[in-house]
Amino acid sequence: MIDCPFCRIVLRQSPADIEYEDDVVLAFKDIYPKAPVHVLIVPKRHIASILELQLDDVETIGRCFVAARAIGQAKGFGERGYRVSINCGPEGGQAVYHVHFHFTAGRRRATEI
Ligand code: 5GP
Ligand code: ZN
Repeated sequence: MIDCPFCRIVLRQSPADIEYEDDVVLAFKDIYPKAPVHVLIVPKRHIASILELQLDDVETIGRCFVAARAIGQAKGFGERGYRVSINCGPEGGQAVYHVHFHFTAGRRRATEI
């Protein structure tokens, strides 16, 4: 079993404030939010980093974007918009090595993260 904080959340072994779930994707509030709305969208299957992404992962990653859209709609940002970003690797600011999309919204200048 991989010792991964986001796998533990997926397996309900650690608590999280869950915002969205489907068969492939889980989304939960970031514990240290950097925007009025800050949700992390993760594939349920462990993929460590975009640095290790394989062609087989394309469907899974695509589903994370579709989940982002659903979260945007559900939270009332479907037209106002939001930011979806991924930190990739040590120099890309990635701290947790389970791919996650930062969904941030509710701030005028969305690029301030
Ligand atoms: P990274 O720098 O890897 O792109 O971002 C990791 C994010 O995960 C950070 O924004 C951090 O606040 C969040 N985070 C780290 N550990 C946990 C956790 O155990 N639960 C939740 N909900 N968020 C976490
Ligand atoms: Zn994991």
